[in-house]
Amino acid sequence: MMDMQSIKQLSDALSKKQISSVELTRHFLSSIETHNDQLKAFISVDEDRAIAQATQADKTLSKGNARALTGIPIAHKDLFCTEGLATTCGSKMLANFVPPYDATVVQKLDEVGAVTLGKTNLDEFAMGSSNENSYFGAVRNPWDTNCVPGGSSGGSAAAVAAGLCVAATGTDTGGSIRQPAAFCGITGIKPTYGRVSRLGMIAYASSLDQGGAMARSAEDCAFLLEAMSGFDAADSTSSDRAVEPYSEQLNHDIKGLRIGLPRQYFSADLDAKVRELLHNALHELERLGAVLVDIELKQAELAIPVYYIIAPAEASTNLSRYDGVRYGYRCEAPADLHDLYTRSRSEAFGEEVKKRILVGTYALSSGYYDAYYGQAQKARRLIAEDFQQAFKQVDLIAGPTAPGPAFALGSKTSDPVAMYLEDIYTLAVNLAGLPGLSMPAGFYDHRPIGLQLIGNHFDESRLLAAAHQYQTQTDWHTRKAPVFAGGAL
Ligand code: GLN
Repeated sequence: MMDMQSIKQLSDALSKKQISSVELTRHFLSSIETHNDQLKAFISVDEDRAIAQATQADKTLSKGNARALTGIPIAHKDLFCTEGLATTCGSKMLANFVPPYDATVVQKLDEVGAVTLGKTNLDEFAMGSSNENSYFGAVRNPWDTNCVPGGSSGGSAAAVAAGLCVAATGTDTGGSIRQPAAFCGITGIKPTYGRVSRLGMIAYASSLDQGGAMARSAEDCAFLLEAMSGFDAADSTSSDRAVEPYSEQLNHDIKGLRIGLPRQYFSADLDAKVRELLHNALHELERLGAVLVDIELKQAELAIPVYYIIAPAEASTNLSRYDGVRYGYRCEAPADLHDLYTRSRSEAFGEEVKKRILVGTYALSSGYYDAYYGQAQKARRLIAEDFQQAFKQVDLIAGPTAPGPAFALGSKTSDPVAMYLEDIYTLAVNLAGLPGLSMPAGFYDHRPIGLQLIGNHFDESRLLAAAHQYQTQTDWHTRKAPVFAGGAL
């Protein structure tokens, strides 16, 4: 059985020629074929490209100069530009967009020989927490197909959880890697802002967007993240700090590691079952040598209002480029230029995207700018300082990833506030530019729950090591969802 193996095991099997990358790739392509109609995890699959990459990987493997990801089948969230392969961003606006270049992340993963199976579904322009905002249909959660997989990287999360790929890229503007990872029972890491290049990653809110890794385990995430990260001269916000070899630092001792538990994240409002599961997980970390410390994040309640001003404001300017002229959807027979703009945008953007453009434009308009955007920027600074205060006392911070487990499809679509509350524990991390990770920490009925770990800037290695060591003692991350592409090769 190849289906539940880690990147390390698969890489080992590939090097020993127990299996070829072409065979492995065909296995995943056929799993996608079987399950994608039901799950809608992939928007597109490019069999020819995948087999060509796998064939190339097999050549590299036979020369003996393979890397950990050489020949490993992965998927990309469909907002990373892929040369010659449609990149839709989950929108009608870009349904026919075929990029002329690869995102840096895609290029880097190609360079180490990873095989791209296809592009995964997402909320339109990464706006959402449930993956119900995709033009290409809602993604289903492999643990319960009546439930959402989380968003916006729900396609990537569902694909990994269902065994349709080994690992996948995601992006996280306010929780879009961590929340779907939690809902689908996998591990996901959003690194420090600037760790991963944003070139070719279609922009939602540029000061918050960050690419990251989604896989079953922290160890697999470490392999993916170290290959994706690094300075990019073409992205002025990317960091030139050297990338640490995360996969080699997973066993770094966590004895004495101080983990802060913010009072605001474990308040009386937290669901009792979620609290119990998180406490069990934290006790396991304590058994491994971590020290739990009660802390305060006094500005925690500012996260939602601040994020929902800043993200739509940036989105409204980023999305102004879709005007029906340059690229993207163009309406039929426009009467004049104004009609061209209006109808192209009205016809091709979905409801949530339109709502955010309106909110963002309002917040930035003269007369309101100081009251909304200016205030939000000041409050953002307070949130960042709050974390720095906490990191004087502790090495990492722990909390829930989301308030509860995956919810039923359609149950929150008519209540935007309930939907926005899904991000209550994840947004502040982006506002402060910090790295955050979610790992499986038990089950709520039959649905997975995630524990979130937050680190200080560039502390990805410590986050991954803590999660890895937890995963050496627990098996939540190896449990199989009911919809899982099993089968021997
Ligand atoms: N759910 C949040 C939003 O809708 C975060 C999305 C994201 O991280 N891309 O904006």
